[in-house]
Amino acid sequence: MNWAERVSPAVRAIPPSGIRRFFDIVAETKGVISLGVGEPDFVTPWHIRESCVYGLQQGYTAYTSNYGLLELRQEIAKHCAATYGVEYDPRKEALVTVGVSEAVDLAMRAILSPGDEVLVPEPSYVSYKACVALAGGVPVTVPTTVENDFRLTVDQLEALVTPRTKALLIGYPNNPTGAIMPRDELAAIAAFAARHDLIVISDEIYATLTYSGTHTCFAALPGMRDRTILLNGFSKAYAMTGWRIGYALSNPDFIGAMTKIHQYTMLCAPVTAQVAAIEALRHGQCSVQKMVDEYNRRRRLMVEGFKNIGLDCFEPKGAFYIFPSVKQTGLSSLAFAEELLKAEKVALVPGDAFGACGEGFVRCSYASSTANLSEALTRIGRFVKNRL
Ligand code: PLP
Repeated sequence: MNWAERVSPAVRAIPPSGIRRFFDIVAETKGVISLGVGEPDFVTPWHIRESCVYGLQQGYTAYTSNYGLLELRQEIAKHCAATYGVEYDPRKEALVTVGVSEAVDLAMRAILSPGDEVLVPEPSYVSYKACVALAGGVPVTVPTTVENDFRLTVDQLEALVTPRTKALLIGYPNNPTGAIMPRDELAAIAAFAARHDLIVISDEIYATLTYSGTHTCFAALPGMRDRTILLNGFSKAYAMTGWRIGYALSNPDFIGAMTKIHQYTMLCAPVTAQVAAIEALRHGQCSVQKMVDEYNRRRRLMVEGFKNIGLDCFEPKGAFYIFPSVKQTGLSSLAFAEELLKAEKVALVPGDAFGACGEGFVRCSYASSTANLSEALTRIGRFVKNRL
């Protein structure tokens, strides 16, 4: 029996994540410094972990509402109103999800009909295009360039929009480039979305990790609140990747539709993580700020390090990634990553894992100790010197 042929063609057509494929090789190599995985090296702050332990002692072990604990939704709405000035009704306009990962999938499945097109700027997070395709949609790549600081322009979008375009899926600060979008340029994109009557899915999981300038919440732009499905979560800013908790905010119709799918597929997000997320929003700001300051110090170390090595490098403004060009070495992204791993035992992610326009770049995560980063820079410097 050929079981592989029994797998749905839609699933077969999706390539496995370029990051995972590469890290299977890393897992088998000893003594590697990995700057590959996009995951904080901090443990979740103790007061957040403790609130979960206390919650368990109190008997928080059952299903919650499909939408999530009302107390958490109220905290999320409060946080959003206080930080960005956007108001949501916690009863009808907020859904607690199993990470932003689930929220991206739900958003796509809730809005797309077969053949609907979704504009996806690249380089971008590896899940976006796969989620569009799995929901029956057609991802349309909008390539961004280092020459334009990896920013998205309305001219590019106008050139690719068609009568089948249903939505635009953006994520700033960006994984993998660290690019952010200035408010006036996002406002121009908002006008574009309104002109073409598009839904905007805005993944703002790195919003708090903005080091230069201020983060603009897309839903806060005039006229965008109801047109936007705003996604955010706890994985990055609160160092809570393993808890699997995030949320979506939007008008009651979109949130209702997403909740319908969520109730049949997930039922609810883990209650333990929901209890911890309440504590994170209520009292986590001080611990978050300490981590943000530390990431910012490391960001400067990396920018300086790549400058000294002699590789062209866009200065990231947010998230915890740096995306240097390796074109000067004459190697492709994949060859650079593979040869560096072999010669110097440093693991990076080839830029083309984030879309074809990421070719010629590599992604390094600086969510790693300063000692690791300094040693990795020394090794990368030695590797590059031998090739320039
Ligand atoms: N969105 C972006 C841009 C990411 O980089 C990641 C994880 O790397 C996610 C979403 C997934 O987040 P979560 O852990 O909340 O599912």
